[in-house]
Amino acid sequence: MAGLVPVSQWGLFPEGDRPFVVAGPCSAESREQVLEAAVALKEAGAGVLRAGLWKPRTHPGGFEGVGAEGLEWLVRAREATGMKICTEAGSAAHVKACLEAGVDMLWIGARTTANPFQVQEICDALGGSDIPVLVKNPVSPDLELWIGAVERLRAAGINKVAAVLRGFTTVEKTPYRNVPVWELSIHLRTTLKDLPLFVDPSHIAGATGYIKELSQRALDLGACGLMVEVHPHPEAALSDASQQLTPQEFMALKQGLKVRSADSADAEFSARMDLLRSDIDDIDSRLLSLLEERMRVSRSIGALKKEYGISILQTGRWEAVMEALRREADAIGLDKAMVERIFSVIHDYSVKVQE
Ligand code: PEP
Ligand code: MN
Repeated sequence: MAGLVPVSQWGLFPEGDRPFVVAGPCSAESREQVLEAAVALKEAGAGVLRAGLWKPRTHPGGFEGVGAEGLEWLVRAREATGMKICTEAGSAAHVKACLEAGVDMLWIGARTTANPFQVQEICDALGGSDIPVLVKNPVSPDLELWIGAVERLRAAGINKVAAVLRGFTTVEKTPYRNVPVWELSIHLRTTLKDLPLFVDPSHIAGATGYIKELSQRALDLGACGLMVEVHPHPEAALSDASQQLTPQEFMALKQGLKVRSADSADAEFSARMDLLRSDIDDIDSRLLSLLEERMRVSRSIGALKKEYGISILQTGRWEAVMEALRREADAIGLDKAMVERIFSVIHDYSVKVQE
């Protein structure tokens, strides 16, 4: 199998501009909206214009995209601004329509990546074309499914492929719409060494407030590109309104990003440090989610005690818990004093939520 073509040679992104940026509205909504987005994004320095035409919606009856009609809007926006254009293909029919319209790049959405039948159907429809394809991670954190989709594309002769981390569905409560699980993207890149990685901070975040930190972290962890949702009037967007930046916000984001050089001794240090920090951030986030779960259980205990007329504080029980924790801490090499301090605070707040 031929090697992958580096993104800088796809002929889509302005030369020398890093990171590679795909930006645009979640959905194409009207000819005017697509054009307005393209003009603003060209000005703001985005590389490729994105807009979804066929929207995979959880429930029927919502806005399911404008469909093939929007292809012409994208083509006109390209003519007017010179920006290259891309959209999501979720079926063989979508691929066919996009290839006929001369779309410059496609992406495979998270729900599609999760379905090998559908990915294969798309690959078959691509047959013979050399259009670049971005592969979003599947909705569940299943590395093999993600790798499998890339393998199918490569077997179909597509040599311009990159992965897009857009986060994963989880039952844990997190501040994000989809948890990033950065380690998984790192495993993907250590498995498929020449596969470029993009990150989609918009679908990870679900809200504009986290996009800057997620984008910077993506670059720090070695992503070469970003896919960002930008809408000329986010408040009026027909899909994903809460996560779309205005073109002005996008411009500020792009200007504020720091791209690290990859080849100095310092960069190696930073890369290793970033990995460790990323682990710490993930652990902290899990600790928070466990604390939230623990407080919920405390509240249920409080309700049960109330129902049965039992007092809130049972010191005997707490002393036994603390003693068990001290023993466990000791056994796994944790400082007993530290564990005692942390759990005293947790206990104080657990009592408080039972009042
Ligand atoms: C999108 O990019 O608009 C989209 C639907 O993405 P995902 O497949 O990541 O949900
Ligand atoms: Mn979207």
